[in-house]
Amino acid sequence: MIEQTIRLWRIPEQTIDLSALQIKIDILHARIKHIAQAHRHTRFATSLAAEDMVVTDAIATTGLPIEVFTLDTGRLHTETLQMIEQVQSRYGLHINPIQPASGDVAQYIAQYGLNGFYESEDAKKACCFVRKIAPLNLALVGVDAWLTGQRREQAVTRGELDFEEPDTARGMTKYNPLYDWSESEIWAYIQSRQLPIHPLHHQGYASIGCEPCTRAIRENEDVRAGRWWWLQKESKECGLHVTPAAVVKVVKDSTPVTSAQSVFPVASSTTAFTETSPLRNDYLDWLEAESIYIIREVVGQCANPAMLFSGGKDSIVMFHLARKAFRFGTREIKLPFPLVHIDTGHNYAEVIQFRDQTVARTGSKLIVGHVEDSIRKGTVKLRKPTDSRNAAQATTLLETIAEYSFDALMGGARRDEEKARAKERIFSFRDEFGQWDPKAQRPELWRLYNARVSTGENMRVFPISNWTELDIWQYIAREKLDLPSIYYTHKREVVQKNGLLVPVTDITPKTPSDHSEYLDVRFRTVGDISCTCPVASTAGTPEDIIRETALSQITERGATRMDDQTSEASMERRKKEGYF
Ligand code: SF4
Repeated sequence: MIEQTIRLWRIPEQTIDLSALQIKIDILHARIKHIAQAHRHTRFATSLAAEDMVVTDAIATTGLPIEVFTLDTGRLHTETLQMIEQVQSRYGLHINPIQPASGDVAQYIAQYGLNGFYESEDAKKACCFVRKIAPLNLALVGVDAWLTGQRREQAVTRGELDFEEPDTARGMTKYNPLYDWSESEIWAYIQSRQLPIHPLHHQGYASIGCEPCTRAIRENEDVRAGRWWWLQKESKECGLHVTPAAVVKVVKDSTPVTSAQSVFPVASSTTAFTETSPLRNDYLDWLEAESIYIIREVVGQCANPAMLFSGGKDSIVMFHLARKAFRFGTREIKLPFPLVHIDTGHNYAEVIQFRDQTVARTGSKLIVGHVEDSIRKGTVKLRKPTDSRNAAQATTLLETIAEYSFDALMGGARRDEEKARAKERIFSFRDEFGQWDPKAQRPELWRLYNARVSTGENMRVFPISNWTELDIWQYIAREKLDLPSIYYTHKREVVQKNGLLVPVTDITPKTPSDHSEYLDVRFRTVGDISCTCPVASTAGTPEDIIRETALSQITERGATRMDDQTSEASMERRKKEGYF
């Protein structure tokens, strides 16, 4: 009997002239330096396979500030997890493990089964989406370039690779610094520098991936033959290296995942899923669910509630949540409370126009309290007509609450905006004078809210208090919410003062000594013209703003509000006096 021995792929013997290789190494280092110099924030995705070890070594050798992460899919080989430890300790660098959202994984398993990817290509694509692509999008928030260890030779799908490629869907650049390296050169580099080698490379694995989808290959097989071996050659990609738009299309066309939203815009890991999808965005969904619960609690507990609505982005999100809270299936109903706006008379026209259009479109009831009326009555006194009316809003607000006997007023304030707001409870009790006492707040254990008030007292309620500015923009992108145009980049005449860009308007005219200029700006927050400033920005879409917000070091009010800069405690003082 003739016994056939299967010969597995083996690490190539070193046959390369090392002096020739040195030229390639120098070029590689020059490429890495070019990437680090050309971009503010760059990350490298490693699978711990041979190519990725070469890139890791080059990053460590050049000492450039490129962060390293790995997609910890939850299905990696034990050997891969051990390699992470080994590489971290050899180079003293941190490999950030980016994991899929547990809710998405659970829903994938419920729909397809743990190893459903063997059953169909669609199920494989959905698994790779949940475990790899969505986490990759999360890993790339806030960066402007990323690197891979891909080579042209590796697969038919990689034959056209270049060093630099536009990752247009994510609005960044992708680099493949090893695109023109051969397999022999990779292994010569590894052996000459004695780099750690993934143990599976010694067991016939030419490529490293998830444990159930990767196997050893035979000698002379294609190096990617061990990846998803049950599929066609052309399908041997997980989607990480095709454009996100294409991935969405693939997922959309082939699985019950129904959203065609861009993969990138929402940093949460399940960006492409809508509320009708069986696979959902657990992070934004949790925030949404909490806010809807709070809004329903207000309606359930309070006799005469209302919701503040200015036409600003936070109130637009809150209004959208309220409409979801009281919707029957797909049928919209009128909100069981009116909207209230305290109009200082010094608002941006675009915002007031948007407010009125929204109210008309949705058939909502809007009550407007005018600061002008308070001025006429004498309850608000200004030194001159152009004085800021921002603080005066509190008086008009209290008058409006009294006039309509509101016992609860929902507002779009968030904890991350300002430190006084961070102190406040979700249900914030106000006494009969509308005052807030930060030392006498009601506990909110286990999300049990106490909205009981006596006549004349009221509650201010903040359904989106736990959201951050980034969450707001991710939600706006996900839900495709319209906003007033001034939230996006536009040219505006401004004067630079005290680190702020003060807009030149009738209410804030420039003085003879001011030097004004026209800059590309957008508003992060909108309020009274007298105290709201734009920021320099060319961001024209929610996706652009998500990227800017992820990088920003300053809170939105810190960057834009003159009123919050007058003293450390200006917001807290105003809140104690009745401000929302
Ligand atoms: S490689 Fe396999 S286990 Fe890993 S994410 Fe893709 S289908 Fe799922």
